[in-house]
Amino acid sequence: MRIVIIGAGPTGLGAATRLKELDHDDFVVLESAPHAGGLAASYTDTAGFTWDVGGHVMFSHYDYYDKLFETMLGDQFTLNDRESWVRIMDRWVPYPFQNNVRHLPKQATFECLQGLIHAQLVRKKDPLDAENFAEFIDLVFGEGIAKHFMRPYNFKVWAHPPEMMNKTWIGERVAVLDADRALKNVVLEQDDFGWGPNNRFKYPLKGGTGAFYQRIAESLGGSIRYGATAATIDSERKLVRLTTGEQVPYDALISAMPLDILVSDIVEDVPDTIRADASRLLHSAGHMVGVGIKRKCPSTKCWMYFPDDNCPFYRVTYLSNYSPYMTPNQTGANDTHYSLLCETSESAHKPVDQNTIIKDTIRGLENAGLLEEGERDDIVSTWYKRVEHAYPTPSVERDDILSVVVPWLEDRAIYSRGRFGMWKYEVANTDHTLMQGVECVNRLLLGEPETTIGIVYRTTDDGREAANHERPTVAGSGEKRLKIEIPARKPAQIR
Ligand SMILES: Cc1cc2nc3c(=O)[nH]c(=O)nc-3n(C[C@H](O)[C@H](O)[C@H](O)COP(=O)(O)OP(=O)(O)OC[C@H]3O[C@@H](n4cnc5c(N)ncnc54)[C@H](O)[C@@H]3O)c2cc1C
Repeated sequence: MRIVIIGAGPTGLGAATRLKELDHDDFVVLESAPHAGGLAASYTDTAGFTWDVGGHVMFSHYDYYDKLFETMLGDQFTLNDRESWVRIMDRWVPYPFQNNVRHLPKQATFECLQGLIHAQLVRKKDPLDAENFAEFIDLVFGEGIAKHFMRPYNFKVWAHPPEMMNKTWIGERVAVLDADRALKNVVLEQDDFGWGPNNRFKYPLKGGTGAFYQRIAESLGGSIRYGATAATIDSERKLVRLTTGEQVPYDALISAMPLDILVSDIVEDVPDTIRADASRLLHSAGHMVGVGIKRKCPSTKCWMYFPDDNCPFYRVTYLSNYSPYMTPNQTGANDTHYSLLCETSESAHKPVDQNTIIKDTIRGLENAGLLEEGERDDIVSTWYKRVEHAYPTPSVERDDILSVVVPWLEDRAIYSRGRFGMWKYEVANTDHTLMQGVECVNRLLLGEPETTIGIVYRTTDDGREAANHERPTVAGSGEKRLKIEIPARKPAQIR
């Protein structure tokens, strides 16, 4: 079986790694960029700061992924305590917000608690039956938390009204948020960080999150062809045509490019109905602004959420806190520079002015209290990257669309996988996507079922094979870890 992989991001690298392991050498990875990593790549700017495409935190659900990380990085990683916060109403509230409303002004605390208790006492409907994410928020959290945090924050992240989003991506566990716990935290003045005993995450010591994928790519030798862009796919003759005109034949094709583009622009002879379905998939773009500052880092925080409208970004990461080698100071001391990575979303519902986003971000950092007065004079670097496909929106219609489009492609030996290949946000982190590649190969060569994608084929009463969606147990990143992780190797740095 000749396997062609489009994309050397985590999905394609996972698939290629598994093929090598299985001694299946008849494959090639086509990558349009001059480097590997996709959205998980990292970039070092001319001033010496290293940036990721948005804060990348590793919450692995898989032994395979953990072992691969260990093989690739040895002890060259840091181990960091998760420390996340919400900046709201000019104060810091520990995350998760709903557990810590005691930090708000009294009136807002009251509204949050009242809404929560009311929503849970007078439950109009089971939240799991909610029509959309907006209704889910109201049923689970009540009016106060919805108004102060959930609605504004989620709009800033997703750039789509929550009425357009489904609720399945968030998982059923959120529904069990209980009013007793919220009330107890307020009355007993307790902070509640909500995470299980294991809230540490690994991060490459040098080179940013992309260092992991770079090393995987190096381990694959000449199997990756950089600067090779798939322009069209003839699914009848099973040929990928590159922009250069070269034809690459396949028996099976694993594609990690965005599914909407694959169907609308690349695969030939797609029926209009399938094309129309795929075009209804929603996504948001992302503006990443890195701000490098020549000062000692003033905080131990990891990342912070911003629901208020005094800044454009929804999230900021103290990236230099993940490793001391993220700044120009390469001594490992981390005491002369620090870096802030700021993420702003964009869609037709939420336009962003690309010409002013850097300026707006710096002003937002000041408004949010992250930059002190006069500190902008110590900014020694700004880095900017816009990605068109940043977040695959879990829209109300998404699963119905995928149920039609994914099987249509698979009938033609095209397996669309990954963050935008499968379009499922709940399984779109690096561990999920790398494993989507691994599992796809296991299915093709060993006949094993894929478990991460959450699509199960079942025969219906009329004898058709229908694609059903089931939320995989590994979905999500904010939920408690499934098991306690004991690092096999001592990290180079513990913060
Ligand atoms: C803002 C943001 C924050 C994130 N935060 C986290 C996090 O905290 N933790 C985490 O684990 N994950 C995080 N992720 C997700 C992570 O980046 C993705 O899981 C991962 O990069 C997806 O891998 P992929 O291979 O599916 O797709 P991609 O990374 O998008 O890779 C696809 C590859 O295909 C190539 N390609 C596209 N079209 C063609 C073509 N026609 N021909 C040839 N090549 C092509 C692209 O150049 C690209 O390299 C985040 C992502 C974003 C955007």
